[in-house]
Formats: sequence, structure tokens, C-alpha cells
Amino acid sequence: MANFYCEYCGTKAASVSALTINSCMRHPLGSNKGKHKLYEGSEKVKYTCKYCGTSASTIAALTINSCTRHPDGSNKGKHAPAI
Ligand SMILES: [Zn+2]
Ligand SMILES: [Zn+2]
Repeated sequence: MANFYCEYCGTKAASVSALTINSCMRHPLGSNKGKHKLYEGSEKVKYTCKYCGTSASTIAALTINSCTRHPDGSNKGKHAPAI
């Protein structure tokens, strides 16, 4: 069965509806200011930030840190996984 992940925080759910019903603690507008967002890429052994190329073994491990090349400014947002 497929797993669905949040692009912002890496939370895993069994369906898209189960994922997006809950607030995201790493939402870009602020903690719990919005819902989890579906990561539309496939499951990978390694996730790479689409802004700076930093990689991590899980989305959660990638998105916990700020990105020095974030489009809103250096360290103004978290790493974001490339699809
Ligand atoms: Zn989330
Ligand atoms: Zn980055």
C-alpha cells in the first residue's frame, strides 16, 4: 500500500484525505497555520532540497533545517524536497 507524505514536514499517512485533514507544524505560514501538503514525488531512499541540493534520508530530516538558498531569503524557510 502506498504511503503519502507531507512536503513540509514528512508526516506519513495512508491516504491523501487522512494526510490533509491535519494541521502541519512546519507549514510555511507558521506552525499549524495550514494543513499538511501532499508531496507529489515518489518515495525515495534520499530526498534532495530543490533550492540548495542538501540531501537527507527522510523528508522530515530534510525539512527540519532552514535553507540558505530559500526563495524568500537565506534561512527564511525550510529545505523543500524536489519531486
Ligand atoms: Zn506537514
Ligand atoms: Zn535547501
